[in-house]
Amino acid sequence: MAKKTERECSFCGQKESEVIVLLEGNNGATICERCVERASEVLGQVLRKDNSFELDVKTPREIKDHLDQYIIGQDDAKKVLSVAVYNHFKRLLYNQSERATDDVEIEKSNIILVGETGTGKTLIARTIAKILNVPFCIADATVLTEAGYVGEDVENILTKLLQAANYDVQAAERGIVFIDEIDKIARKNDNPSITRDVSGEGVQQALLKLLEGSVVNVPPQGGRKHPDQKMIAVNTQNILFISGGAFDGIDRVIASRMKAHVIGFSESKNRTAIDKTNLLQYVLPQDLKKFGLIPELVGRFPVLSYLNPLDKDALRKILSEPKNALVKQYQKLFQMDNIQLEFADEALDAVVEKAVEYKLGARGLRSIMETIMTDIMYEIPGKRKTTKKMVITKELVLDKLNNSKINSSLV
Ligand code: ADP
Repeated sequence: MAKKTERECSFCGQKESEVIVLLEGNNGATICERCVERASEVLGQVLRKDNSFELDVKTPREIKDHLDQYIIGQDDAKKVLSVAVYNHFKRLLYNQSERATDDVEIEKSNIILVGETGTGKTLIARTIAKILNVPFCIADATVLTEAGYVGEDVENILTKLLQAANYDVQAAERGIVFIDEIDKIARKNDNPSITRDVSGEGVQQALLKLLEGSVVNVPPQGGRKHPDQKMIAVNTQNILFISGGAFDGIDRVIASRMKAHVIGFSESKNRTAIDKTNLLQYVLPQDLKKFGLIPELVGRFPVLSYLNPLDKDALRKILSEPKNALVKQYQKLFQMDNIQLEFADEALDAVVEKAVEYKLGARGLRSIMETIMTDIMYEIPGKRKTTKKMVITKELVLDKLNNSKINSSLV
């Protein structure tokens, strides 16, 4: 009797015994699970290429409305960013459409944000990426060095973006990168240096390549490039770069420019009064150059905006108003134990006072709240049968803070 031949995958030829499943079609053709998987990958790529990608483009007002739910104040920055991001996405659509063949080229709208630390620069960038549902990563400019020096190559920024996109290159190619502390790679003085400036100008030069839109070879696992490492080619043309920095001392640069301006136009009676308490609002690209960013780099960030320092009123709102405000987060945690948590107004005022006193800004609100809440969160779950409501009073806040390490370590 003839031996029955084993069935095999009509695509890859694997024997039935070597695969997990073998699906059979009407005409006897078969396909194994690996070929199904592979086909699905190819299909995904083809579809993405064909119809490019679906962009969930929101209007600037919608973007701003959304940002308002998470970020207190900073109206100018939110508005400027909403428009820049909207234009960026229109540019993506334009580039992938027929119209891309006509001669108008819409340039990229990379953004630079100037503002004290802890005023919401990263939060705005992160929130925008979430609204747009694109991969997002944060890169720290201070660890970057130009190729060949100790530190990270600028390409590692894109490694992070690839990781955020689960190595989906096409998704990464329309992601958002936030480069933090861009001011720290400024030239130390305004004169181009004679000796090479490893930490500053060299990195700025290296960044240009990423910003201007080119195909960059990225080491998939980061680290230093070496000859036998397989690289992933990433086109940065449609990646939106948002960078932020405190630019300590730029207010003096702005002030001296404005003073010069005032002298030059001493007749200008109509000049609107200058708000000397917050000079950042007058920041211009030339101030960034004076601060030590090379002109080419400044030129790659056509959109410039600023963030205001956070005053008591803003800090107070940050505690309770944003969609994921700290107060709301603690209430949620307690609610899971069926306990209603309330904060007295004066208690929250006291938290803000401490944040201001310790000069901790918005970032300090969290550590202060943790200091207050840790003991309570330790005890309360054990008492959830008898405790239905917990009110945090000003006295409780002061008591916890006065007896905590945060107090002794900071004052
Ligand atoms: P920056 O990037 O300017 O140094 P971040 O955006 O990282 O500051 O802010 C630190 C934290 O402080 C944020 O995660 C957020 O909790 C809070 N925060 C700062 N500014 C604001 C703001 N304007 N509105 C709401 N929360 C803020």
